[in-house]
Amino acid sequence: MTQPDIIVIGGGIAGVSAAAMLACDARVVLIEAEPQLGYHATGRSAAIFIRNYGNDVLRALNALSAPTLQAPDGISDRSLLSPRGEMLIASESETAALEDYAKGATGLERLTAAQAVALVPILRQERIAAAIIEPDAQDIDVDRMLQGYARLVRERGGQTVKGAAVTGLSRTNDCWQVTTATSTWSAPIVVNAAGAWADTVARMAGLAPIGVTPMRRSAVLLNAPDGYQIDAWPLVAGASEGWYAKPDAGRLLVSPADEDPVEPHDAWPDDLVVAEGLHRFEQAVTIPVTRPTHSWAGLRSFTADRTPAVGFDPSTTGFFWLAGQGGYGVQTAPALASICAALCLGHQMPAPPNILDALKPDRFRVT
Ligand SMILES: Cc1cc2nc3c(=O)[nH]c(=O)nc-3n(C[C@H](O)[C@H](O)[C@H](O)COP(=O)(O)OP(=O)(O)OC[C@H]3O[C@@H](n4cnc5c(N)ncnc54)[C@H](O)[C@@H]3O)c2cc1C
Repeated sequence: MTQPDIIVIGGGIAGVSAAAMLACDARVVLIEAEPQLGYHATGRSAAIFIRNYGNDVLRALNALSAPTLQAPDGISDRSLLSPRGEMLIASESETAALEDYAKGATGLERLTAAQAVALVPILRQERIAAAIIEPDAQDIDVDRMLQGYARLVRERGGQTVKGAAVTGLSRTNDCWQVTTATSTWSAPIVVNAAGAWADTVARMAGLAPIGVTPMRRSAVLLNAPDGYQIDAWPLVAGASEGWYAKPDAGRLLVSPADEDPVEPHDAWPDDLVVAEGLHRFEQAVTIPVTRPTHSWAGLRSFTADRTPAVGFDPSTTGFFWLAGQGGYGVQTAPALASICAALCLGHQMPAPPNILDALKPDRFRVT
């Protein structure tokens, strides 16, 4: 490729989906530090689409993404979603949290404690004061989604460079010079899709950070409890987000739903945090919790208002933020990639002005 029009930094779902959309009309180079795409947050997610998850802006982005996840033209030959459902259960002290979640939500159904236990028979009925289910929540095939977008980048003439950490960024002659250990690229636009490292990349470019905070979230796999067919169970979560559990390829994924702020790094689970989370889970169920067969952690990176930061940085030229996707980055990727392409290339804007305003990356900076 001769000089690209746009360089995307970060090969997680945000960067890869954006690169695919941008490559429709621009020469795109996607640069990823790790030898493989999706190595960090994207490859460690719980892989679920929950329409009502997040604040109003996120709920709008979830709705905008749903059609692409359902009918992923060009990305995959079939839906990236499959039925799961999400059930929230509340003890007496958690009913306010459950009602908070239900406010402004769509498609929820109320359940009695007995109905909740009928769906997930290991739950302790006497601890359930209230329950709701979002039947429309779906599993996402994240790997197929990521590989599908990566293939689109290739098919549209884009170039992907893996195992190449960006170490320098400067703007000269109306272009960003992007340096890795082995090469230098130059383009008028840079997209910062570096996940937990988004502020690090901004600082490299001499820009003020916006406060993207990586928060560790852990998960373990347990063997399926003896005597239960778990595959059709919905994801079930404590209403105050102290734990959640969902079937995962024949085993039970349990997360302590931790949210500990950390420096950007290759995350691993903290044993104590996992043990405390498993204890909270164990109090809600009738089965003994067995030793995890596998555990991992990833970084969910949040801005101060828990809404992504998407748009050009007004303090310079050609620096685009695509960061702060928090716990929603897989399910909102199609919408955010389209918004990125619309803002960079003048494509038709898929989101209304109030959503674009809410995503403005400089909203945290004191003027
Ligand atoms: C346990 C867990 C459960 C989750 N569950 C869900 C869920 O069910 N549904 C959902 O929608 N979301 C979920 N998430 C959140 C979701 O995984 C993230 O929001 C999403 O993956 C963020 O994508 P990203 O591309 O921004 O970040 P990442 O996937 O982290 O990608 C950023 C990439 O940038 C690269 N990079 C950084 N610095 C540089 C540099 N200098 N040069 C080159 N490359 C660089 C990194 O190597 C990395 O690969 C979950 C997250 C976790 C941890």
